[in-house]
Amino acid sequence: MVIEIRGKVALITGGASGIGLQFAKALLRNGLKGVTLADLNPKLGHGALQQIEREFGPNRAIFVQTDVTRIDQLDYTFNKTIGTFGYLDIVFNNAGILNDAVWETQIQININGVIHGMLLAMEKYLPKYQQGPEALIVNTSSIAGLEGSAHVPIYAATKHAVLGLTKSWGCDTFYDRNKVRVVAVCPGVTNTPLISEMNNRSLGAQYENLLDEVATWPTQKPETLAEQVMEIVKYAPNGSTWVVEGGEAAYEYIFPD
Ligand code: NAD
Repeated sequence: MVIEIRGKVALITGGASGIGLQFAKALLRNGLKGVTLADLNPKLGHGALQQIEREFGPNRAIFVQTDVTRIDQLDYTFNKTIGTFGYLDIVFNNAGILNDAVWETQIQININGVIHGMLLAMEKYLPKYQQGPEALIVNTSSIAGLEGSAHVPIYAATKHAVLGLTKSWGCDTFYDRNKVRVVAVCPGVTNTPLISEMNNRSLGAQYENLLDEVATWPTQKPETLAEQVMEIVKYAPNGSTWVVEGGEAAYEYIFPD
C-alpha cells in the first residue's frame, strides 16, 4: 500500500539543516500539512523556519529546540506537535553527527537519539495520533552503516546500529500491533555542513586520507536526495533499507542471508 503524504503531519529530528531540512521541504512539496523541526541549534532552526515560510507560506512548520539525547525533551517536542497540528503520521529520526573524536557524544546522538525517537513514535504517539491507516518512521543511517570504515569506525558502528533498530522494529510483530512502517535510508556523500565542516576543520592525522578519499567520491545535493527519499518511502516495505547515492541511484539493499 502506498503511504499518502498529502494532509499528513511530520516531525524531523535534525530538521534545521542539511538533509533534515530538505526532507521537510520535500514533504511540504508533496502536500504535507505541517512539520516540526526538532533540532539542537536555535539559530539554524529559526533560519529554517523563515525559509519554509518564504517558500510555503505561514503556519506550515514549527521549530522546537530539542536535544535528541534527552528523551524528556523529545517527548515535549512530540507533545507540542500534537498540540499544534492535532495529529502525527511521519517521524524522521535524522539527527546525527560525524566526529569520532567525540565518540561518546556521537553514540548518544546517533544511537540513543534514534532509540528515543523510536520509543516515543512506536510506543506512545503514532499508534494514538496517526490519521491514516498506516504511519511511517524513516531512520537516517548511511552507506557507512553497511560497510566498515577504517577512518571513522565509531561513526560506522552507530550507523550499523540504526539499521539494527530499523530491522528489529520493522518486523511483523510490531507492524501488526501498531500499523507503523519503519524504513532506513543510507545516503552516500551529500553536500551538507556535516561534510563541509569536516573538510574545513583541522581533523588531525587520523583523517588525512579520508579527506582525499571523500574528494573522489560522487556527491549529491541534499535536495536531490530528499526528492528521491520521498518517492521511496511512499512504498518501501516495512523494515527495508534504501541506499541513495551519487544523486542518481536509489536501490533497496537486501541483506545477504
Ligand atoms: P547537518 O550537520 O547539516 O545536520 C544535522 C543536524 O542535526 C543539525 O541541524 C544539528 O544541529 C542537528 N543536531 C546535532 N546534534 C543534535 C542533537 N543532539 N539533537 C538534535 N539535533 C541535533 O548534517 P546532515 O548531513 O544533514 O546529516 C543528517 C543525517 O544524515 C545524519 O544522521 C548524518 O549522519 C546522515 N548522513 C549524512 C551524510 C552526508 O554526507 N551529509 C551521509 C550519510 C548519512
